[in-house]
Amino acid sequence: MTNEHIPFLDLVTVHRELQDELVEVLTTTLKNAGFIGGPMVQGFEKDFERFCEARFCVGLASGTDALRFALIAIGVKSGDIVVTVPNTFIATTEAISQAGARPDFVDIDPRTYTMDPGKLREYIEHTCKWNAKTRQVIHNATGKPVTAVVPVHLYGQMADMDPILDLATQYNLKVVEDACQAQGAEYFSQKDNRWHRAGSMGHAAAFSFYPGKNLGACGEAGAMTTNDEQLAQTCRLLRDHGQSKKYFHDIEGYNGRLDAIQAGFLRVKLRHLEKWNEQRREAAERYDKLFAGAERLVTTPHQPSWARSVYHLYVVQVEDRARLQQKLSDVGIGTGIHYPVALHLTKAYEGLGFKTGDFSVAEKAAAHILSLPMFPGLTVDQQRRVVTEVLKSHSITTTVS
Ligand SMILES: *Cc1c(COP(=O)(O)O)cnc(C)c1O
Repeated sequence: MTNEHIPFLDLVTVHRELQDELVEVLTTTLKNAGFIGGPMVQGFEKDFERFCEARFCVGLASGTDALRFALIAIGVKSGDIVVTVPNTFIATTEAISQAGARPDFVDIDPRTYTMDPGKLREYIEHTCKWNAKTRQVIHNATGKPVTAVVPVHLYGQMADMDPILDLATQYNLKVVEDACQAQGAEYFSQKDNRWHRAGSMGHAAAFSFYPGKNLGACGEAGAMTTNDEQLAQTCRLLRDHGQSKKYFHDIEGYNGRLDAIQAGFLRVKLRHLEKWNEQRREAAERYDKLFAGAERLVTTPHQPSWARSVYHLYVVQVEDRARLQQKLSDVGIGTGIHYPVALHLTKAYEGLGFKTGDFSVAEKAAAHILSLPMFPGLTVDQQRRVVTEVLKSHSITTTVS
């Protein structure tokens, strides 16, 4: 066991291995100068909708655009309330605000870190009223309609979609999956007794291809998926200034296109995604085994029987997170915190009027979570060293064999 540096994420090796194919994409595009739209973008969209088992995919400039356009396309309007969870990347709530709505939160399940469907029901039935005539959920304190829910498939594991979708049907709510961390994740639905892929269950879904995601571009990129042709069409308009044809603008839109070079890169990398996700699952299983017996010191990720995670992150909880993170850093092991501040307490949302204790499960998680090194190609030896150092930091002298 050496003392080599173990990065939190290794993005260098995979691109070195794929360099020839990626450079080929670049030379082809330079030759025909088709930088925006065209066959590379359409080709990627076809490949990705097949991968997600969704009917339509619209390539976009980022995951944030995907969330924003999906929310606008499903009909979220200025003055609406859209409900999500507090433990997500701020892009989720930025998109809600930028669609004109006000973000509100329900707490998470302490074991999966994803939206607690019981809390969502409580929110709808106790802090809101159902107006049967307009078929709207009206928020008591503000009188505003709650129109959509954004469950976040956090760390590569899908939220508990069956009860969330049931509530959405019962209360006429739209569901946009934030699948930015979950390319290829699966959920077992009791309703039709089969597995479903992230991006195929809600009215629409958003994916990010930020370089560090399970499927990452070599720059910025994203996509929305849906089974609804009309929603896909609206997102195609929104990404391109509302143009149905050059300089004929049906609506006012945005500049949110996926560029051809990134689409080409993504097509090359998508061919490896199943294998990479499998490698992440194997690495997660190895961590689980190495941590077995240390449950009192380290809480490992929980995968319910209905979830097949793609382990975008391997997140543990420990009592003294600051000390552990420092110790690991001292011995050359990279870690991350996703995320250190629950969004209802972040400075940007001071104006929403939340306080400490409002979402105690998310707050407690934020104080104790630590993301350990996780990427395809992480070796058994590297993982043994990570686990040894984690347990050592808790003054346990045994090394992991
Ligand atoms: C990465 C991420 C986003 C935003 O994606 P960008 O491509 O960076 O805009 C949104 N939500 C979650 C949960 C993410 O992890």
